[in-house]
Amino acid sequence: MQNEFIEKVKQKYGGKKIYYILTMGCQLNENDSEKLAGMLESMGYKPTKNIEDADVIVINTCCIRENAEEKVFGKLGELKKLKLTNNIIIAIGGCMMQEKEMRNKIKQSYPYVDIIFGTHTLHKFPEDLYYVLSNKEKIQDVLEIDGEIHEELPIKRNNTKQASVTIMYGCNNFCSYCIVPYVRGRERSRRPEDIIKEIKDLAEKGYIEITLLGQNVNSYRGKENYGFAELLNDINSIEGIKRIRFISPHPKDFTDDVIKAIKNGENICKLIHLPLQSGSSNVLKAMNRNYTKEQYLSLVEKIKNNIPNATFSTDIIVGFPGETEKDFEDTLDIVKKVNFEQIYMFIYSRRHGTRADKMENQIPEEVKHERFNRLKNLFEHNISKNNQKYIGTIQDILVEGTSKNNANIYTGRTQSNKVVNFEGNKEWIGQFKKIKIIAEHTWYLEGKIDE
Ligand code: SF4
Repeated sequence: MQNEFIEKVKQKYGGKKIYYILTMGCQLNENDSEKLAGMLESMGYKPTKNIEDADVIVINTCCIRENAEEKVFGKLGELKKLKLTNNIIIAIGGCMMQEKEMRNKIKQSYPYVDIIFGTHTLHKFPEDLYYVLSNKEKIQDVLEIDGEIHEELPIKRNNTKQASVTIMYGCNNFCSYCIVPYVRGRERSRRPEDIIKEIKDLAEKGYIEITLLGQNVNSYRGKENYGFAELLNDINSIEGIKRIRFISPHPKDFTDDVIKAIKNGENICKLIHLPLQSGSSNVLKAMNRNYTKEQYLSLVEKIKNNIPNATFSTDIIVGFPGETEKDFEDTLDIVKKVNFEQIYMFIYSRRHGTRADKMENQIPEEVKHERFNRLKNLFEHNISKNNQKYIGTIQDILVEGTSKNNANIYTGRTQSNKVVNFEGNKEWIGQFKKIKIIAEHTWYLEGKIDE
């Protein structure tokens, strides 16, 4: 049905029209925006990097943290002038739009927004756009119930060698700080054959690195007796795909068969992103994470025993309600013990509608910031030490492009997702090169081609 609307928009309104998409939040949102771009391009729209040139502007929102929401309101404020002068279409979608208060706020304070759509109605964007173009009326298209999975949406990938593939939608975990289960709904897994087909198609087009996406990838259930381990095994044998990454697994669902699949999968990266959130068993309980500090550490141990070259990255939230100095020290203790390659650190942000928001023992801002800085300092100290293990080694680097600061310097990543910069040439982009690591600079490694 959407193909019909794609054709209608293309015939009646397409042509030399331009679109601009602003994406906030996680890689799942990035992947959704690739689908929006794919739909827009099928309707005859062309992309621009300059928002002022656009006929259609889409904001794909995130509601995980307050500052992402503030950024959206700031951007909408800026667009008012453009709306009046250029008569553009403004669409806003994604997680924030699943919250009723947010939709009401948009309607009241930013009445010039034309399309409001939610996470479960993204696939209907061509229909919504056609409605607004032909009726000259605004539309709100949000489903409060879990949406179905829609396969074969057009997609415009941001990269020609690396691609993200969403394997499941939603989350059943209800971590007490997190709004995601409320805005993305319950877990729904894509059928294995659809995922495999998508990745085989990507391999045929020359893609070599795939990142599997889901809020909780290791609770993937494609069908009876077919879970995440089976999916990893099948993807590992797809010819042409040389690197398989996945985010994010949940420690409580990290089963032995998944460990075995990673161990045996020659194309599966051995960097495991294992969200910790807190090192304190008390805080983990209040967060509803369903594991303790000891269980997390023994899982890390088990993975290391089975996969000796495994490395880890993680997410940590600092300043969760009730976090004591002792609780925070437990987090630092895990950071010292695990030697993470990367830590994505967040200061706890209250989210309306979550259980943690109603907790009385909120932590003062200055304490949260002081702890955040201590965690950051510890990690930075560790990372330089940890980086030493790469010096003198020869790494397979997938060359991604030139460095942002120097067009003569090329950049890529190790299997463990470390950024490596080196002198190269543009023919190398998209290829694997053997690079010898010669120096470390905390956030990146420096290398040279191993002739
Ligand atoms: S696992 Fe927890 S943190 Fe992750 S999306 Fe689900 S509820 Fe949120």
